[in-house]
Amino acid sequence: MIITIASFKGGVGKTTSAIHLAAFLQSQGETLLIDADPNRSATGWAQRGDLPFEVIDEWRSPRRMRNFDHVVIDTQARPVQRDLELLTDGCDLLILPTTPDVLALDALVLTLECLQAIGANRYRILLNIIPPKPSREGETVKQMLKAAELPVFETGVRRLAAFQKAARAGGLVYAIKEARAAEGWQDYVQVGQEMLAGA
Ligand code: ADP
Repeated sequence: MIITIASFKGGVGKTTSAIHLAAFLQSQGETLLIDADPNRSATGWAQRGDLPFEVIDEWRSPRRMRNFDHVVIDTQARPVQRDLELLTDGCDLLILPTTPDVLALDALVLTLECLQAIGANRYRILLNIIPPKPSREGETVKQMLKAAELPVFETGVRRLAAFQKAARAGGLVYAIKEARAAEGWQDYVQVGQEMLAGA
């Protein structure tokens, strides 16, 4: 499958999600991550360490894509409507990560308005970097999105320092030696399973 990760705001974990969902898909079949974000964060991540899948930039992607079972595309933040149209057209699922806070949700609303304007329906919201209990922010925002009948993953990704360490090391969260790192990986495995189940 081809999945695209997009967001109207930086810092919502777009690249971290692209990297970890590509790692999940790699456990199912050969996976390619296309780094179409001009910041080239995914490319930098791959260069710092050792990822179990290939990362290339969008200029080299058209021919390479044919050889893979799954493709994940990390895109530039703040796409304009025309970009979103092309992005949704070219993939099986558009994933919109957002953090459960007011500023990110404002940006999400803009994205959703654009998607509705172009009649897109293959997209799902991923609640990301969810603060730990006693905060109820993650759950509250999920229920709010559901009440608005918006497509949202049941599983959200929790906020863990291990994700920042993984980015620094150029690896995956499961390789970080920290008690809760496995829980972070488990979140992405569950998101990946939901993704495949809905495909
Ligand atoms: P974006 O691509 O949306 O700008 P990044 O993936 O670069 O977002 O993440 C932004 C920052 O948040 C980085 O410092 C990253 O390490 C951190 N981050 C991402 N996901 C998590 C998480 N689940 N828990 C804690 N920090 C995270």
